[in-house]
Amino acid sequence: MISKFTDLGISEEVAHAMDDMGWEEPTPIQEAAIPYGLKGHDLIAQAQTGTGKTGVFGALILCIIPAHQKLPSAIVLVPTRELAVQAAEEIGRLAKYTGHICIPIYGGASIEKQVDQLNAGVDIIAGTPGRVRDLIERGYLNLSLIKTVVMDESDRMLDMGFIKDIEFIFKACPTERRMMMFSATMPEDIKRLAADYMTRPKEINVSKDEIMLDLTKQYYISVGRRNKSWALTRIIDIDKPKALIFCQTIKMVDTLEQRMTEHHYKVEALHGDMPQSRRERVMDDFREDKIDLLIATDVAARGLDIDDVSYVINYDMPDDLDTYIHRIGRTGRAGRVGTAVSFVTSAEEYLIREFELRTGMKIEKREVPEEEGMKDSIRKVTDYDQLSDPFGMVRFEINLGKNDKVGKVSLADYICRTGRIMDAAVGKIQLGLNASVVEVHRDFGNRMLMDVPRTKYRDKQINVRVLDRK
Ligand code: AMP
Repeated sequence: MISKFTDLGISEEVAHAMDDMGWEEPTPIQEAAIPYGLKGHDLIAQAQTGTGKTGVFGALILCIIPAHQKLPSAIVLVPTRELAVQAAEEIGRLAKYTGHICIPIYGGASIEKQVDQLNAGVDIIAGTPGRVRDLIERGYLNLSLIKTVVMDESDRMLDMGFIKDIEFIFKACPTERRMMMFSATMPEDIKRLAADYMTRPKEINVSKDEIMLDLTKQYYISVGRRNKSWALTRIIDIDKPKALIFCQTIKMVDTLEQRMTEHHYKVEALHGDMPQSRRERVMDDFREDKIDLLIATDVAARGLDIDDVSYVINYDMPDDLDTYIHRIGRTGRAGRVGTAVSFVTSAEEYLIREFELRTGMKIEKREVPEEEGMKDSIRKVTDYDQLSDPFGMVRFEINLGKNDKVGKVSLADYICRTGRIMDAAVGKIQLGLNASVVEVHRDFGNRMLMDVPRTKYRDKQINVRVLDRK
């Protein structure tokens, strides 16, 4: 396969993965930096998010270091957990045909799991300096085979006070290694670090106008009205975003603020019924990072000029495209990556299709995030509106079937009698051998789920569970 990527010297396997990712041609920084990198030069590049810099060091690492070495051969240092995960994911996608294993390493998560992953053998690490140092000091991480060291978002790492950890990590690597440094700005301390640890690095500069990639990732989550607050707290607990949360009405903003506050989340509301002075204070608090979660109506959010919102959450989906675009445009600014998540009830899913068609953008479906062993602060409930079809029918599975000598009529009878459910509320029945699927109107959902299982059919204890929509 010959492409604009192999022309730069990138291996066919990596170019093939880029093709799968929909990359058509190299970005300016990829074009400028990759050939030097492949020749073995150290690199220092002034580049922001959105220039394709992860593609630069990802491709270089994958083209230079061998796979399956057990001990890591490359390490990428990044300032935050979010970036560690993002970098590891992108390198993982680029490694689709090379087989390299890349794992994220960051603090605030179970150390055992990361140690297990290291023991299983990894080629590349994308990690935050604090946790990487910790693992080295505890003897879990051996960097003696490192051939490539990357510092991503170097200026942010120094701002966050990671310099001592970074130098400790450099010293744990062999002296014979190549180094790449990426930074949005080039303050003196970065230059000093480069002078101390790099050998005649090539300097690459990419101007601001060359950031042309769309930095806002758009997702939607299919969730019923009653479970939106559950989904919201999951996202907040796991991703810890700085988020602007949009609701359709002032009343909804107030209700959600109250609910989140009851569950001890630090949130503020912003809407037109609040006195101007209070609105200004709330906006200041959000701007100054005193609060990370702001729940707002569209009108009130207009006055908010801020460019480091990492998430826009459409708690309620807007019904027109202009509002949608205006909302999501509040993230992914100033070269930062942004995420827009929309909560969409089953009745609203058509809006996603419509917005995709009209803009040519892709809005990917995502599940409510989940983390092992976490406890929900708001519980998920059975939302019959979300589970029902356009006629209001919800599918249930009951553990009775042909083997129990029931037919459709006797099964319907049994359900109506034990659940005190109206005849007309029972719909289609699909008889199975040991279990059957029965449609019941959502108004009787609770009786079907709670009352019917309290009974026995010829000594058999009855179980019922609700099924997702088809
Ligand atoms: P980065 O600057 O590395 O954070 O990259 C920003 C986004 O651009 C990521 O989603 C990359 O997957 C994407 N990207 C990187 N290089 C290319 C390319 N050559 N063509 C299209 N998208 C790219």
